[in-house]
Amino acid sequence: MDKFAVFGNPIQHSISPRLHNMAIKELGLDGFYGRILLQDGEKLKEIFLNLKLNGANITVPYKQNVFKICDFTDEFSKNIGVVNTIIKKRDKIYGYNTDAPGFLKSIGHLGNIKKVLILGAGGTAKALAHAFKSQNIDIQIVNRSISKAKNFNEFEFYNWQNFKPNNYDMVINSTSAGLNDNEFPMPKEMLIEILKHTKFAYDVIYNRKTPFLNLSHELNVPCKDGKDMLLFQAVLAFNLFYNNSLDEKKIEEAMRKVLDM
Ligand code: NDP
Repeated sequence: MDKFAVFGNPIQHSISPRLHNMAIKELGLDGFYGRILLQDGEKLKEIFLNLKLNGANITVPYKQNVFKICDFTDEFSKNIGVVNTIIKKRDKIYGYNTDAPGFLKSIGHLGNIKKVLILGAGGTAKALAHAFKSQNIDIQIVNRSISKAKNFNEFEFYNWQNFKPNNYDMVINSTSAGLNDNEFPMPKEMLIEILKHTKFAYDVIYNRKTPFLNLSHELNVPCKDGKDMLLFQAVLAFNLFYNNSLDEKKIEEAMRKVLDM
């Protein structure tokens, strides 16, 4: 039996096990996908190898730790130093990033996006910023603290103190504010100002009406949560677990059953 898992902290909220186990069942494969609460990021490699997992997904807050345990990574992950999917092949760990292509797939229906504001500067923000850059989309990043600016040298980076809002096609909450609390990703007045000048709001958090999404609704800004991003990154990760030998459409159909429940 093939064994997979998602690592993170917190991890209880993750629906990755349900998505992947549904795909395993619907595609008639012999496998199991579990969840692991990882208290110490330094133990990731040891636990991954001890459990003899074939592959895993890594979520908050370990996506940048995992890069250094990989023996090989794909080009995109190598550029950004952020991995969300690992696979063991012949005792070597291979790392990939499926968040960025998953996110781009999830906004395919939105049409022409030219200017984007990303709130937050963690692993997800980094993956999204580089994905947008590859599409020649103009990006600004604003984060609570300035300490992560060094990870965004090629981008316009601000903290709350020196940021002045512009007009945007899309604003994305890529912070974990709202994941386990009722916080806004930035001071509310500043967020209102931004939302008034944006066409679309996107929260990468899924399955929760976050304060960011509620405020977007209140201000009549069309918005969506991170469910489709989750779906598409999972489809791509699942296919990687099986050496890209499966039909993506079939994986998507299976996983959608979970989201539609
Ligand atoms: P990281 O831990 O790498 O980064 C978190 C970021 O959020 C940092 O910029 C941090 O700011 C900021 N932040 C945290 N709390 C607050 C707060 N209360 N107010 C303002 N800013 C805050 O996380 P990731 O980038 O890995 O993940 C971020 C979010 O994306 C999570 O909620 C995760 O669940 C979601 N996600 C969803 C996916 C999906 O498929 N839908 C896929 C991947 C992630 P600072 O630098 O100041 O600490």
